[in-house]
Amino acid sequence: MVVIQMITEAALLEQFNGSLQLRKLSLAAPGRQEILVRMVSASVCHTDIAAIEGEFGRLIPLPMVLGHEGAGVVEAVGDGVKKFKKGDRVVLSVVVHCDNCRNCAAGRPSACENFNEIAFGGGLNDGSKRLSLDGRQVSHFFAHSSFSRYAVVPENVVVHVPDEVQLEKLSVLSCGVQTGSGAVMNSGIPLGSKLAIFGCGGVGLSAVMGAKVIGAREIIAIDVADERLSLARELGATEVINPKKLDAVERVKSISGGGVDYAIECVGRTETIVQAVDCLRPWGTVILVGVPRRGTKIEFDFFSLFRATVRGCVAGFANSELFLPLLISLNQEGKFPFEKLSPGSYRFEEINRVASNASLDFS
Ligand SMILES: [Zn+2]
Ligand SMILES: [Zn+2]
Repeated sequence: MVVIQMITEAALLEQFNGSLQLRKLSLAAPGRQEILVRMVSASVCHTDIAAIEGEFGRLIPLPMVLGHEGAGVVEAVGDGVKKFKKGDRVVLSVVVHCDNCRNCAAGRPSACENFNEIAFGGGLNDGSKRLSLDGRQVSHFFAHSSFSRYAVVPENVVVHVPDEVQLEKLSVLSCGVQTGSGAVMNSGIPLGSKLAIFGCGGVGLSAVMGAKVIGAREIIAIDVADERLSLARELGATEVINPKKLDAVERVKSISGGGVDYAIECVGRTETIVQAVDCLRPWGTVILVGVPRRGTKIEFDFFSLFRATVRGCVAGFANSELFLPLLISLNQEGKFPFEKLSPGSYRFEEINRVASNASLDFS
Protein backbone atom coordinates (compact mmCIF):
# COMPACT_ATOMS: atom_id res chain seq x y z
CA MET A 1 0.00 0.00 0.00
CA VAL A 2 1.35 3.39 -0.93
CA VAL A 3 -0.03 5.91 1.54
CA ILE A 4 0.04 9.56 0.59
CA GLN A 5 -2.46 10.98 3.03
CA MET A 6 -5.20 9.30 5.00
CA ILE A 7 -7.92 10.11 7.49
CA THR A 8 -7.69 8.83 11.05
CA GLU A 9 -10.07 9.14 13.95
CA ALA A 10 -8.15 10.64 16.85
CA ALA A 11 -8.82 12.10 20.31
CA LEU A 12 -7.97 15.78 20.02
CA LEU A 13 -7.01 18.03 22.94
CA GLU A 14 -7.88 21.60 21.95
CA GLN A 15 -7.66 23.29 25.36
CA PHE A 16 -6.27 22.38 28.76
CA ASN A 17 -8.79 20.85 31.16
CA GLY A 18 -11.12 20.25 28.24
CA SER A 19 -12.41 16.85 27.24
CA LEU A 20 -10.82 14.99 24.33
CA GLN A 21 -12.84 15.27 21.12
CA LEU A 22 -12.93 12.39 18.67
CA ARG A 23 -12.26 14.03 15.30
CA LYS A 24 -11.34 12.93 11.80
CA LEU A 25 -7.80 14.19 11.23
CA SER A 26 -5.58 14.05 8.17
CA LEU A 27 -2.49 11.94 8.63
CA ALA A 28 0.35 12.37 6.15
CA ALA A 29 2.34 9.41 4.87
CA PRO A 30 5.34 8.27 6.92
CA GLY A 31 8.47 10.21 6.05
CA ARG A 32 12.05 9.01 6.13
CA GLN A 33 12.61 6.45 8.91
CA GLU A 34 8.98 6.69 9.99
CA ILE A 35 6.31 4.02 10.25
CA LEU A 36 2.53 4.07 9.92
CA VAL A 37 0.99 1.94 12.69
CA ARG A 38 -2.65 0.82 12.96
CA MET A 39 -3.26 0.95 16.69
CA VAL A 40 -4.77 -2.15 18.31
CA SER A 41 -4.50 -0.92 21.89
CA ALA A 42 -3.33 2.19 23.69
CA SER A 43 -3.06 2.83 27.40
CA VAL A 44 -3.60 5.98 29.38
CA CYS A 45 -0.62 7.11 31.45
CA HIS A 46 -0.62 9.61 34.30
CA THR A 47 1.44 11.88 32.03
CA ASP A 48 -1.45 12.06 29.53
CA ILE A 49 -3.79 13.11 32.33
CA ALA A 50 -1.24 15.69 33.54
CA ALA A 51 -1.02 17.07 30.00
CA ILE A 52 -4.82 17.41 29.79
CA GLU A 53 -4.81 19.21 33.13
CA GLY A 54 -2.29 21.75 31.85
CA GLU A 55 0.64 20.54 33.93
CA PHE A 56 3.00 21.08 30.98
CA GLY A 57 1.40 24.41 30.07
CA ARG A 58 3.03 26.18 27.17
CA LEU A 59 5.62 23.45 26.88
CA ILE A 60 3.19 21.49 24.71
CA PRO A 61 1.63 23.17 21.69
CA LEU A 62 -2.11 22.62 21.25
CA PRO A 63 -4.07 21.29 19.50
CA MET A 64 -2.49 17.93 20.16
CA VAL A 65 -3.28 14.23 20.03
CA LEU A 66 -2.04 12.66 23.26
CA GLY A 67 -1.12 9.05 23.96
CA HIS A 68 2.36 7.60 24.37
CA GLU A 69 1.57 3.96 25.03
CA GLY A 70 0.43 1.82 22.14
CA ALA A 71 0.64 -1.48 20.33
CA GLY A 72 -0.47 -2.27 16.81
CA VAL A 73 0.34 -3.44 13.32
CA VAL A 74 2.61 -1.81 10.74
CA GLU A 75 0.59 -0.58 7.74
CA ALA A 76 3.32 1.17 5.77
CA VAL A 77 6.94 2.25 6.13
CA GLY A 78 8.75 5.36 4.92
CA ASP A 79 12.07 5.56 3.09
CA GLY A 80 15.08 4.17 4.89
CA VAL A 81 13.13 1.84 7.20
CA LYS A 82 14.97 -1.47 7.25
CA LYS A 83 13.81 -3.32 10.35
CA PHE A 84 10.04 -3.28 9.74
CA LYS A 85 7.58 -4.14 6.98
CA LYS A 86 3.83 -4.03 6.48
CA GLY A 87 2.06 -6.54 8.72
CA ASP A 88 4.67 -6.58 11.50
CA ARG A 89 3.22 -6.56 15.00
CA VAL A 90 4.76 -3.90 17.19
CA VAL A 91 4.72 -2.07 20.50
CA LEU A 92 5.75 1.57 20.81
CA SER A 93 8.25 2.79 23.40
CA VAL A 94 8.22 6.01 25.38
CA VAL A 95 12.01 6.17 24.99
CA VAL A 96 11.95 8.77 22.23
CA HIS A 97 15.45 9.71 21.15
CA CYS A 98 17.31 11.51 18.39
CA ASP A 99 20.08 9.01 17.51
CA ASN A 100 22.39 12.02 17.07
CA CYS A 101 23.42 13.32 20.50
CA ARG A 102 26.29 12.11 22.69
CA ASN A 103 24.08 10.03 24.96
CA CYS A 104 22.37 8.34 22.02
CA ALA A 105 25.81 7.63 20.53
CA ALA A 106 26.87 6.16 23.88
CA GLY A 107 23.92 3.73 23.85
CA ARG A 108 21.87 5.61 26.43
CA PRO A 109 18.72 6.54 24.52
CA SER A 110 16.71 7.23 27.69
CA ALA A 111 19.17 10.04 28.45
CA CYS A 112 18.83 11.56 24.95
CA GLU A 113 19.70 15.24 25.12
CA ASN A 114 16.79 16.02 22.79
CA PHE A 115 14.22 14.01 24.76
CA ASN A 116 12.18 17.00 25.91
CA GLU A 117 12.02 18.53 22.46
CA ILE A 118 10.88 15.28 20.85
CA ALA A 119 8.49 14.29 23.66
CA PHE A 120 6.81 17.64 24.22
CA GLY A 121 7.72 19.81 21.23
CA GLY A 122 4.77 18.58 19.14
CA GLY A 123 6.68 17.20 16.14
CA LEU A 124 8.26 13.90 15.19
CA ASN A 125 12.04 13.47 15.33
CA ASP A 126 12.66 16.03 12.57
CA GLY A 127 10.31 18.50 14.29
CA SER A 128 7.63 18.35 11.61
CA LYS A 129 4.03 17.19 12.06
CA ARG A 130 2.04 14.59 10.16
CA LEU A 131 -1.39 15.36 11.68
CA SER A 132 -3.70 18.17 10.61
CA LEU A 133 -7.32 19.29 10.83
CA ASP A 134 -8.84 21.49 8.13
CA GLY A 135 -5.37 22.54 7.02
CA ARG A 136 -4.26 23.44 10.56
CA GLN A 137 -1.34 21.40 11.92
CA VAL A 138 -1.95 19.22 14.97
CA SER A 139 0.83 18.31 17.42
CA HIS A 140 2.11 14.87 18.33
CA PHE A 141 2.86 13.80 21.91
CA PHE A 142 6.07 11.83 22.56
CA ALA A 143 6.18 11.42 18.77
CA HIS A 144 3.47 8.78 19.25
CA SER A 145 -0.04 10.24 19.58
CA SER A 146 -1.42 6.76 20.15
CA PHE A 147 -4.93 8.04 20.99
CA SER A 148 -5.66 7.64 17.30
CA ARG A 149 -6.65 4.71 15.12
CA TYR A 150 -3.51 5.30 13.04
CA ALA A 151 -0.24 6.99 13.96
CA VAL A 152 2.97 7.86 12.15
CA VAL A 153 5.92 7.34 14.49
CA PRO A 154 9.72 7.34 14.24
CA GLU A 155 11.19 3.91 13.50
CA ASN A 156 13.42 4.12 16.57
CA VAL A 157 10.48 3.94 19.03
CA VAL A 158 9.02 0.82 17.44
CA VAL A 159 9.76 -2.67 18.81
CA HIS A 160 8.85 -6.05 17.29
CA VAL A 161 6.32 -8.30 19.06
CA PRO A 162 6.29 -12.10 18.57
CA ASP A 163 3.27 -13.53 16.71
CA GLU A 164 1.90 -15.47 19.66
CA VAL A 165 1.67 -12.46 22.00
CA GLN A 166 -1.66 -10.62 22.26
CA LEU A 167 -1.29 -6.98 21.22
CA GLU A 168 -4.32 -6.02 23.32
CA LYS A 169 -2.43 -6.34 26.59
CA LEU A 170 0.89 -4.88 25.47
CA SER A 171 0.38 -1.12 25.37
CA VAL A 172 1.01 -0.75 29.12
CA LEU A 173 4.59 -1.82 28.45
CA SER A 174 5.34 1.34 26.46
CA CYS A 175 5.79 3.68 29.40
CA GLY A 176 4.65 2.80 32.93
CA VAL A 177 5.73 -0.83 33.09
CA GLN A 178 9.00 -0.17 31.27
CA THR A 179 9.74 2.78 33.55
CA GLY A 180 9.13 1.01 36.86
CA SER A 181 10.70 -2.32 36.03
CA GLY A 182 13.59 -0.70 34.18
CA ALA A 183 14.42 1.53 37.14
CA VAL A 184 15.22 -1.68 39.01
CA MET A 185 16.33 -4.09 36.29
CA ASN A 186 18.59 -1.63 34.42
CA SER A 187 20.34 -0.19 37.48
CA GLY A 188 22.92 -2.90 38.04
CA ILE A 189 21.41 -3.84 41.41
CA PRO A 190 23.28 -6.87 42.79
CA LEU A 191 21.54 -10.16 43.57
CA GLY A 192 20.36 -10.31 47.18
CA SER A 193 19.92 -6.55 47.62
CA LYS A 194 17.35 -4.99 49.92
CA LEU A 195 14.91 -2.60 48.27
CA ALA A 196 12.20 -0.22 49.41
CA ILE A 197 9.70 0.85 46.75
CA PHE A 198 7.67 3.97 47.46
CA GLY A 199 4.32 4.05 45.65
CA CYS A 200 2.37 1.08 44.31
CA GLY A 201 0.65 2.51 41.25
CA GLY A 202 1.46 0.90 37.91
CA VAL A 203 5.05 2.17 37.95
CA GLY A 204 5.81 1.12 41.54
CA LEU A 205 4.21 -2.30 41.09
CA SER A 206 6.31 -2.77 37.95
CA ALA A 207 9.34 -1.98 40.10
CA VAL A 208 8.18 -4.67 42.55
CA MET A 209 7.95 -7.21 39.70
CA GLY A 210 11.37 -6.11 38.44
CA ALA A 211 12.84 -6.51 41.93
CA LYS A 212 11.56 -10.07 42.09
CA VAL A 213 13.04 -10.83 38.65
CA ILE A 214 16.53 -9.65 39.66
CA GLY A 215 16.51 -11.68 42.86
CA ALA A 216 16.19 -8.95 45.47
CA ARG A 217 16.29 -10.42 48.99
CA GLU A 218 13.92 -7.92 50.55
CA ILE A 219 11.26 -6.01 48.59
CA ILE A 220 9.48 -3.57 50.88
CA ALA A 221 6.47 -1.89 49.24
CA ILE A 222 5.07 1.33 50.68
CA ASP A 223 1.68 2.84 49.80
CA VAL A 224 -1.27 4.47 51.53
CA ALA A 225 -3.82 2.10 49.91
CA ASP A 226 -4.13 -1.38 51.39
CA GLU A 227 -5.55 -2.88 48.19
CA ARG A 228 -2.48 -1.76 46.25
CA LEU A 229 -0.27 -3.22 48.98
CA SER A 230 -2.00 -6.57 48.70
CA LEU A 231 -1.37 -6.57 44.94
CA ALA A 232 2.26 -5.66 45.70
CA ARG A 233 2.48 -8.77 47.91
CA GLU A 234 0.97 -10.90 45.16
CA LEU A 235 3.58 -9.56 42.71
CA GLY A 236 6.58 -10.19 44.95
CA ALA A 237 6.80 -7.72 47.84
CA THR A 238 8.19 -9.46 50.92
CA GLU A 239 6.91 -6.76 53.31
CA VAL A 240 4.40 -3.95 52.92
CA ILE A 241 3.98 -0.71 54.86
CA ASN A 242 1.03 1.65 54.95
CA PRO A 243 2.49 4.99 56.15
CA LYS A 244 -0.95 6.05 57.36
CA LYS A 245 -0.54 3.40 60.05
CA LEU A 246 3.23 3.23 60.63
CA ASP A 247 6.28 5.49 60.26
CA ALA A 248 7.63 4.31 56.90
CA VAL A 249 11.29 5.19 57.49
CA GLU A 250 11.43 3.61 60.95
CA ARG A 251 9.68 0.50 59.73
CA VAL A 252 11.94 0.11 56.66
CA LYS A 253 15.03 0.48 58.84
CA SER A 254 13.71 -2.06 61.30
CA ILE A 255 12.77 -4.65 58.65
CA SER A 256 16.02 -4.24 56.72
CA GLY A 257 18.32 -4.15 59.73
CA GLY A 258 19.47 -0.54 59.44
CA GLY A 259 18.36 0.60 55.99
CA VAL A 260 17.95 -0.59 52.42
CA ASP A 261 20.55 -0.75 49.66
CA TYR A 262 18.17 0.86 47.16
CA ALA A 263 15.07 3.00 47.52
CA ILE A 264 12.93 3.39 44.40
CA GLU A 265 10.75 6.50 44.66
CA CYS A 266 7.72 6.22 42.36
CA VAL A 267 5.40 8.81 43.92
CA GLY A 268 7.05 12.12 43.09
CA ARG A 269 6.04 13.93 46.29
CA THR A 270 8.60 15.86 48.31
CA GLU A 271 7.79 13.95 51.54
CA THR A 272 8.27 10.53 49.98
CA ILE A 273 11.44 11.60 48.17
CA VAL A 274 12.95 12.70 51.50
CA GLN A 275 11.74 9.48 53.16
CA ALA A 276 13.29 7.40 50.38
CA VAL A 277 16.68 9.02 51.06
CA ASP A 278 16.25 8.66 54.83
CA CYS A 279 15.63 4.91 54.70
CA LEU A 280 18.94 4.12 52.93
CA ARG A 281 21.79 2.41 54.67
CA PRO A 282 25.18 4.14 54.26
CA TRP A 283 26.35 3.67 50.64
CA GLY A 284 22.74 3.20 49.56
CA THR A 285 21.22 4.53 46.36
CA VAL A 286 17.92 6.29 45.82
CA ILE A 287 16.44 6.11 42.33
CA LEU A 288 14.01 8.93 41.57
CA VAL A 289 11.27 7.78 39.22
CA GLY A 290 8.19 9.74 40.33
CA VAL A 291 7.98 13.25 38.92
CA PRO A 292 6.95 16.20 41.12
CA ARG A 293 5.46 19.39 39.73
CA ARG A 294 7.80 21.60 37.73
CA GLY A 295 9.85 23.96 39.88
CA THR A 296 9.66 21.74 42.98
CA LYS A 297 12.51 22.35 45.45
CA ILE A 298 13.41 19.68 47.98
CA GLU A 299 15.35 20.20 51.19
CA PHE A 300 17.59 17.44 52.56
CA ASP A 301 19.63 17.14 55.72
CA PHE A 302 23.19 17.13 54.35
CA PHE A 303 24.11 14.07 56.39
CA SER A 304 21.30 12.00 54.89
CA LEU A 305 23.01 12.48 51.51
CA PHE A 306 26.62 12.33 52.71
CA ARG A 307 27.05 8.64 51.95
CA ALA A 308 24.23 8.21 49.44
CA THR A 309 23.93 8.12 45.68
CA VAL A 310 20.97 9.86 44.04
CA ARG A 311 20.02 8.84 40.51
CA GLY A 312 17.22 10.36 38.46
CA CYS A 313 15.55 7.83 36.18
CA VAL A 314 13.62 8.58 33.00
CA ALA A 315 11.91 5.72 31.17
CA GLY A 316 13.59 3.02 33.23
CA PHE A 317 17.10 3.63 31.82
CA ALA A 318 15.78 1.45 29.02
CA ASN A 319 17.13 0.59 25.63
CA SER A 320 13.69 -0.54 24.48
CA GLU A 321 14.82 -2.59 21.51
CA LEU A 322 16.45 -4.94 24.02
CA PHE A 323 14.36 -4.35 27.12
CA LEU A 324 10.77 -4.70 25.86
CA PRO A 325 11.39 -8.13 24.25
CA LEU A 326 12.93 -9.22 27.57
CA LEU A 327 9.80 -8.13 29.48
CA ILE A 328 7.57 -9.92 26.96
CA SER A 329 9.62 -13.13 27.32
CA LEU A 330 9.52 -12.96 31.11
CA ASN A 331 5.76 -12.47 30.90
CA GLN A 332 5.40 -15.54 28.68
CA GLU A 333 7.38 -17.51 31.27
CA GLY A 334 5.02 -16.34 34.02
CA LYS A 335 7.72 -14.31 35.77
CA PHE A 336 6.43 -10.83 34.98
CA PRO A 337 2.60 -10.75 35.07
CA PHE A 338 2.11 -7.13 34.02
CA GLU A 339 -1.47 -7.79 32.87
CA LYS A 340 -2.45 -7.76 36.56
CA LEU A 341 -1.84 -4.00 36.63
CA SER A 342 -4.51 -2.99 34.15
CA PRO A 343 -7.81 -1.83 35.64
CA GLY A 344 -9.55 -2.97 32.47
CA SER A 345 -10.12 -2.19 28.85
CA TYR A 346 -12.41 0.45 27.36
CA ARG A 347 -13.59 1.19 23.85
CA PHE A 348 -11.74 4.06 22.19
CA GLU A 349 -14.96 6.09 22.18
CA GLU A 350 -14.96 5.99 26.00
CA ILE A 351 -11.58 7.72 26.27
CA ASN A 352 -12.80 10.57 28.46
CA ARG A 353 -13.90 8.07 31.14
CA VAL A 354 -10.61 6.23 31.27
CA ALA A 355 -8.30 6.49 34.27
CA SER A 356 -4.56 6.00 34.48
CA ASN A 357 -3.25 2.56 33.41
CA ALA A 358 -6.48 1.53 31.70
CA SER A 359 -6.33 0.34 28.11
CA LEU A 360 -8.23 1.44 25.04
CA ASP A 361 -9.42 -1.09 22.52
CA PHE A 362 -9.58 0.13 18.90
CA SER A 363 -11.54 -2.82 17.51
ZN1 LIG B 1 3.81 7.69 30.53
ZN1 LIG C 1 19.78 11.78 21.45
